[in-house]
Amino acid sequence: MSLNDEWRRRSLAAVWHPCTQMKLHARDERPQPLIPVARAQGVWLHDHEGARVLDGISSWWVNLFGHGHPAIREALVDQLHTLDHVMLAGFTHAPVVELSERLAALTGLGHAFYGSDGASATEIALKMSAHFWRNAGRPAKSRFVGIAGGYHGETVGALAVTDIALFREAYAPLVRLAATVDSPDARQAAPGETPADVAERAAAALDAWLTEHAHETAAVIAEPLVQCAAGMAMHDPRYLQRLRALCDRHAVHLVLDEIAVGFGRTGTLFAHQHPQAAIRPDFLCLSKGLTGGTLPLSAVLTTDAVYEAFWDDEVARGFLHSHSYTGNPLACRAALATLDLIEQTGIVEANRTTADRLWAQFAPLTAHPAVRHPRRQGMIFAWDVASRAPDFSRRFASHALAQGVLLRPIGHTVYAMPPYVISEDEGAFLAAGALAALQATLAEEPAEGRAVAMGGVDGV
Ligand SMILES: *Cc1c(COP(=O)(O)O)cnc(C)c1O
Repeated sequence: MSLNDEWRRRSLAAVWHPCTQMKLHARDERPQPLIPVARAQGVWLHDHEGARVLDGISSWWVNLFGHGHPAIREALVDQLHTLDHVMLAGFTHAPVVELSERLAALTGLGHAFYGSDGASATEIALKMSAHFWRNAGRPAKSRFVGIAGGYHGETVGALAVTDIALFREAYAPLVRLAATVDSPDARQAAPGETPADVAERAAAALDAWLTEHAHETAAVIAEPLVQCAAGMAMHDPRYLQRLRALCDRHAVHLVLDEIAVGFGRTGTLFAHQHPQAAIRPDFLCLSKGLTGGTLPLSAVLTTDAVYEAFWDDEVARGFLHSHSYTGNPLACRAALATLDLIEQTGIVEANRTTADRLWAQFAPLTAHPAVRHPRRQGMIFAWDVASRAPDFSRRFASHALAQGVLLRPIGHTVYAMPPYVISEDEGAFLAAGALAALQATLAEEPAEGRAVAMGGVDGV
């Protein structure tokens, strides 16, 4: 048995993999092989036998500067020599203080609360918002409203605001469902409508909803500029200004989830800082790229006004939430090293050139007759594919792997979200692999009557 096969076999016996029907890895017909990764460097994942795969989706959107970046590695090694971990209740340490100060300076949100992953950041923001209103003498404001197709994580609390049927269906009885309003997704434009028109329509729907429900609503939660898990649904940045104005007018909090889109992914350091938006949320949720893709960490940043509503002699009016690893020094140090890299490399600016170059390299894919709605925002690129096959995503992903590229379409949306350090040659390899995978996937389908079946999430 090869080394790869050996790790595959042991993994399937002992590890329950996420977002996976485990049987698909083991069934007789078209099994999806699990990929054992021995090491990773830059954009490349290497198996145990000398094969490598280009990480075209930054390992679920977390990796910004490639795998094994020496600056992050050195910071972590240094941190390990001084302080590995200490509880954050009653104690503090330099990495968590410095990280909080720097995030405050970058966002204007001066108070940072930490969690271990994106879903816990969502839960922290929701709890904080509702508790704010309770402390303010308005306990009825305890419900939430999200955007259609929104994704905010999959713990029981976060599922309440995650509008993706496949992830929610089986657990519906456990969840106190939030309301959902229309998405500003620009693909929904009727003939003659601009993305701004769609955004305006969506904002009007939210306005109508809030007019009726603001008295019982704590917060609106939204993913600015790109709803990634919805299939890289992009919207006009001015929607964010409308969101801010509506939240102010109806006295509800605005929670922005930049877990996927923060740290330069959409073209500005944070998506809500897009020049046509330039707003400030009441809560900002960060994770994924926060540590450059090295360690789990999340943060919820908020305003003085929120913080002050918890400042009291009474313990019960404080924010009562904790995770054992809150503010872990190693994770905070990785985040500081990542912020250093962002500043020192001028990556947000440099990404404009990289993104233009990649988009040019993707031109043959964009021009493919089966492609609909080719779109880009910063370092996110997406194409919907006219295919009827319910298993399009899985088949495409396996053809992509055969080409040496990691791409996992969401439903019928093929997307790329590579590490920022992708070189020109690597970009060409990724683009050629994506095109070849599309051709191979469509070649297996009858050409007659292909239609886009949207909305199914399969293989995030
Ligand atoms: C990934 C993601 C989450 C959840 O983060 P986890 O670390 O996977 O729990 C929440 N919101 C958005 C927008 C995400 O992309």
